[in-house]
Amino acid sequence: ISTDSISSGQGNVKVLVRARPFLQREIAAGSPCLLSMNSDTGTTTLHSEEFPGASSTLDGFPLQNRTKGPREFVFDESLWSVDESTKNPFVGQEQLYATTGKEFLDHSFSGYNTCIFAYGQTGSGKSYTMIGTEKDPGIIPQTCYDLFQRVKRMTTRTTAFTVKVTFFEIYNENVYDLLAPRTTTSQPVPLKVRESPVDGPYVKDLSSHAVHDFREVEELLKIGNKQRATAATNMNSSSSRSHAVFTLNLKKIESDPVLDETTEEMNSRVRFVDLAGSERANSTGASGSRLREGANINRSLTTLGRVINILSESALSSKKKDLVPYRDSTLTWLLKDSLGGNSKTAMIACISPCDYDETLSTLRYASQAK
Ligand code: ADP
Repeated sequence: ISTDSISSGQGNVKVLVRARPFLQREIAAGSPCLLSMNSDTGTTTLHSEEFPGASSTLDGFPLQNRTKGPREFVFDESLWSVDESTKNPFVGQEQLYATTGKEFLDHSFSGYNTCIFAYGQTGSGKSYTMIGTEKDPGIIPQTCYDLFQRVKRMTTRTTAFTVKVTFFEIYNENVYDLLAPRTTTSQPVPLKVRESPVDGPYVKDLSSHAVHDFREVEELLKIGNKQRATAATNMNSSSSRSHAVFTLNLKKIESDPVLDETTEEMNSRVRFVDLAGSERANSTGASGSRLREGANINRSLTTLGRVINILSESALSSKKKDLVPYRDSTLTWLLKDSLGGNSKTAMIACISPCDYDETLSTLRYASQAK
C-alpha cells in the first residue's frame, strides 16, 4: 500500500474526507464498497474491486481493473461510520458540524475569516454537506443557527452584532448575484469584479442583506439556491458547472453607553463554497461552450488547489506570499481575503463509496491541498 499524504492537523488549513452512503440504485446494482477508513488515524483507503470486503464478484470486471489500488491517504479527518442495519458507511450531519462547523464558528467569533469548501464529483454529496435537507440540515444552516444562538447569548448593553448575507455564483469566470431580484425569463447579467486599495478584490453591485434571525437566513438560502438552478437553466447549463459562494459578514460592536460611542469593532467573514463538480474539469471529447466551461472549471479548481497548498505551508516567507497565484482564477481572486492571512480554511472532499476513478482523483486533489 502506498501512503500519499501525512498531514499535521495544525495550521490554517484543514482537509477532511466524507464518504456518502450508497444510493438506492447503487445498492440495486450490487456496487461493491471500495472504501475503508480509520477515523482514529484519519486514513482513507481506496481499494480496487478485488477488496475482499467488496460485495460483488470479480467476474465481469475488465482485467485492467484488477491492477488498481489499494491506495492509502491520510487527512485531518476521515469521516466514517457504518449503519449497522444496512452496513452503509455514512457520517451524520451533526457529527460533521461537531468536527468542523463548530470549530470554524469559534474562529469567526475570534475575528478570523473562515472558508469551508465542498469538493467532489457531481453526486458525491457536496450540496448534502453544505445545505442538506429540511430534516438533516447541512453545515450552512447549522452554522447559521448556532451563530444566532451565540449572538443572542452574547448581546449585552455594551455588545451588539450585525450579520449580513451575500450569495453569488461563478460560472465561466463570470460572477452572478444569486440574491438580486431577477425575472425568471431574462438572461442573468454578470457583475464586475473590482479591486479596492484597502479591501482588495470585491464584486461591484453585489446585493448584501441584513439578517436578524435564523429564519431570515434560511429564506435567503432557499431563494439563492432556486436562483442558481434557474440561472443555470437559462444559460443552458447545469448548476454543477458553477461555484456557489455563500457569505455571512459578522460584525461585533463594543460601545460605551455613557459616552455613547463605539469603542471596538470586530469584522469577520464566514464563507461556504459549493464547488463545481470536479468531473466537469475534464473536457475530454467536449467542444464549443462545454469545452470552455470545462477549461474554466479546471483552471479554477487547479488554482484553488495550488493556493491552498502554498498557504498550508506553515511559515510562509514574504517572497513566497507574493507568489500565491490568487489572480489566476476569479474564484481564488475573490476569496483572497478568506484564504491565507488572518483566515482558516477547510476543504471537505466528498466521495462516493463505489467509484474508483473519480474517488481516486478527489483523494489526490485533497491530499495535494495539504
Ligand atoms: P452533489 O452536490 O455533490 O452533486 P448531492 O449532495 O446532491 O451531491 O448528493 C447526491 C445524493 O446523495 C443526494 O440524493 C443526497 O441526498 C445523497 N447524499 C449525499 N451525501 C449523503 C450523506 N452523507 N448522507 C445521506 N445521503 C447523502
